[in-house]
Amino acid sequence: MTRPVFKRILLKLSGEALMGEGEYGIDPLTVARMAEEVKAAKDTGLEICLVIGGGNIFRGMAGAAKGMDRAQADYMGMLATVMNALAMQNALEQLGVHTRVQSAIQMDAVCEPVIRRRAERHLEKGRIVIFAAGVGSPYFTTDSGAALRAAEMKCNALFKGTSVDGVYNADPKKDANAVRYDTLSYDRVLQDNLKVMDASAVALCRDNGIPIVVFSIREQGNLARVLAGDGTATIVQEEN
Ligand code: UDP
Repeated sequence: MTRPVFKRILLKLSGEALMGEGEYGIDPLTVARMAEEVKAAKDTGLEICLVIGGGNIFRGMAGAAKGMDRAQADYMGMLATVMNALAMQNALEQLGVHTRVQSAIQMDAVCEPVIRRRAERHLEKGRIVIFAAGVGSPYFTTDSGAALRAAEMKCNALFKGTSVDGVYNADPKKDANAVRYDTLSYDRVLQDNLKVMDASAVALCRDNGIPIVVFSIREQGNLARVLAGDGTATIVQEEN
């Protein structure tokens, strides 16, 4: 499959990508490996915006299911994404990659607030900008945060790193006959309720013409391969 060449991308990693073999939290070795993947992509000359989820630490829905107020739980989830962003910043800087964290919930002592023009300047200077705290509001997810930042930062594509190598017509972990799509339209994803990203995030990408590339972040070197147009992935875009 040939894919377009990108100048600026948004990379979304779920919080679970940072927990390694564990069931919870941040595994420093795994974060270091993820940082190497990101650095390899950066070394190809790309400008990279990064969004990391918080599901390895706290999800609002899980808190709500146990009786917490949903909005309160969601704010805790947003704080979890800030912790992950700081962990990734640390790992990237240990590799010599310059980064800035911008949080949608202001936290002056640890990171910058989200300021689009400043983020633009960071990217121009070759820094990776890690956007934390999603959209900054409860009842959203970091997928929506990723789509929003991809749109406002004019990213050419949103790369979603997951534990599977694309989008299937059934869960490949449960169904041996599940078939992976090479390409899909946004509307098909929404109509068939395919598990790519939240519907609001998919709709935002559709309305702004941002292709979504779903690939496995677990295979070493895969991000750089997928960026080069090789490797296995599913691309969600407008069908001609
Ligand atoms: N969250 C939120 N608003 C946002 C982004 C995140 O309320 O704009 C909360 C929400 O509770 C969510 C949690 O933060 O469950 C962690 O984010 P997410 O579930 O998207 O993480 P991922 O699944 O990507 O690890």
